[in-house]
Amino acid sequence: MTLDAAAARTFFSELLRQIELHQVLLDRLDAVAGDGDHGATMVVGMRAVVAAQREDASLPELLRLAAEAFSSVGGSIGPLWGTALLRAARAAEEQTGADVENVAVMLTEAVQGLRDRGRSELGDKTLLDVMEPAAVAFAAAVRSGATGPKAIDCALEAAQQGLAESARLPARRGRARRLQARSVGVDDPGAASACLAWETAARVAAAAV
Ligand SMILES: [Mg+2]
Repeated sequence: MTLDAAAARTFFSELLRQIELHQVLLDRLDAVAGDGDHGATMVVGMRAVVAAQREDASLPELLRLAAEAFSSVGGSIGPLWGTALLRAARAAEEQTGADVENVAVMLTEAVQGLRDRGRSELGDKTLLDVMEPAAVAFAAAVRSGATGPKAIDCALEAAQQGLAESARLPARRGRARRLQARSVGVDDPGAASACLAWETAARVAAAAV
């Protein structure tokens, strides 16, 4: 498996479908300690990402288009994913190919973007609790010689574990801060949609083998 522009377009299209299917659930998770719009916001963001795709775009171009599209979405999630996608695009531009090692670098840069933009740390009950362990697991799998699909499976496992662990914590960031206690035992909506992205990536990678 190589992560090329076509694979990225398939991933974005499939993720939009999954986000649409899970919109109500994501909204409900957000309503526990937030304003209940995470699913709706993600649908708007992913529709913009898919609409911005161009058949003739290279992978870095595609990621830049996705970054611009997602940044235009309001709330806190738009700029967060916008920054992560832009960092991934820059990392993709610097690489000559798009093999799994390059993807590991793109993921690491994207996670750093989430940290910088969200000013969040692990355990703050945000999407970072899913994305950072997933990126670390992906890189570790690649270092030990794993193929792309295998590395994505390792990342998915870490993502799901990260989601479950962060669910036990009280929210510490953003709007949810006012309602910290209510969020204990409930998935963070941003972490849940990030985990959905990994589930989608694993399915797309498995289908492409
Ligand atoms: Mg919200």
